Amino acid sequence: MRIAIFGTKDYDRQFLSGANVVHGHELHFLEPRLDESTAPLAQGFPAVCIFVNDRADAAVLERLAAQGTRLVALRCAGYNNVDLRTAARLGVAVVRVPAYSPHAVAEFTIALLLALDRKVHRAWARVRENNFSLDGLIGRNLHGRTAGVIGTGRIGALVARTLQLGFGCQVLASDVVEDPELAAMGVSYVPPAELLERAEIVSLHCPLTPQTRHIIDADAIAKAREGLVIVNTSRGALIDTRALIAGLKARRIGGVALDVYEQEADLFFEDLSNEIIEDDDFQRLLTFPNVLVTGHQAFLTQEALEGIAETTLANISDFEAGRPLANSIDPALAR
Ligand code: NAD
Repeated sequence: MRIAIFGTKDYDRQFLSGANVVHGHELHFLEPRLDESTAPLAQGFPAVCIFVNDRADAAVLERLAAQGTRLVALRCAGYNNVDLRTAARLGVAVVRVPAYSPHAVAEFTIALLLALDRKVHRAWARVRENNFSLDGLIGRNLHGRTAGVIGTGRIGALVARTLQLGFGCQVLASDVVEDPELAAMGVSYVPPAELLERAEIVSLHCPLTPQTRHIIDADAIAKAREGLVIVNTSRGALIDTRALIAGLKARRIGGVALDVYEQEADLFFEDLSNEIIEDDDFQRLLTFPNVLVTGHQAFLTQEALEGIAETTLANISDFEAGRPLANSIDPALAR
């Protein structure tokens, strides 16, 4: 099948080309991200492949469908950037990669938490300047602390298990569906409000939906324990950035580690080192000593990239052969 692959990076080219030896699709790698202005590049392509910050809203989907696209293949798990209702109306199928190494994201979440809590990022910068002073680098043990996990699906369950069994935290969890295995190992399911009141650390692993948008807002921050540490490797808009900045300035929040950011589409995945960043909220976040930001890289392991490439191309092969689409997204999940 002819596939227009938007937002291509070197690693996409490498891993998709590797997996395609088996599938034999015609891959067209395009560097621009998909939006209304770049949709014409997909003229005549029956399949379009996109990532987290490509935009497949109603206008883009109308354009793609009019140009002959019948399949949108997400090479990621989250699908908040696709207007599923419009896709269904236009007869455009949408597939995704629901599970590619949840370990990649769970392990990165723990890496961020440890780096933030033990100030590894600051120590690294100091030592490079031959500054071996330890002042200001006092951390906290994870052992014995109360950690809250919001969303205990594939990734959240691994994080909860690691914190509970690996580090000896007391783990609280919140989800619309409880995982009996986690409950059996001592994880306590509580309502989100109670989790926020009791937890010293909160890690977000629920999808971005109207219900979860700004789940961490000014109200949540006001009710949370003083010194709360927040880790977000899920989706940026789970947190109200302005409320977060206010909470940091008020010293109510103890630390924040973000791999995702509400307005990341304007920033992430690009080298902007010679540019002036216009997003003042983002720039303010970077000035706090207790904030650690990475550019949406939790998924970026060799194992995950192999899994993403293989499942993406298998999804497209299934569509081409008219086989049932195991990884299609139900339009009923539309936002
Ligand atoms: P998943 O579908 O397995 O788990 C999501 C969980 O959230 C489910 O258990 C679901 O019941 C729960 N949930 C839904 N609504 C909720 C609500 N209102 N409150 C609490 N819980 C709720 O998904 P996953 O594979 O574990 O991925 C989690 C998220 O991680 C994805 O949605 C995606 O946005 C993000 N992600 C980020 C990266 C990255 O590189 N940073 C990579 C992959 C996935």
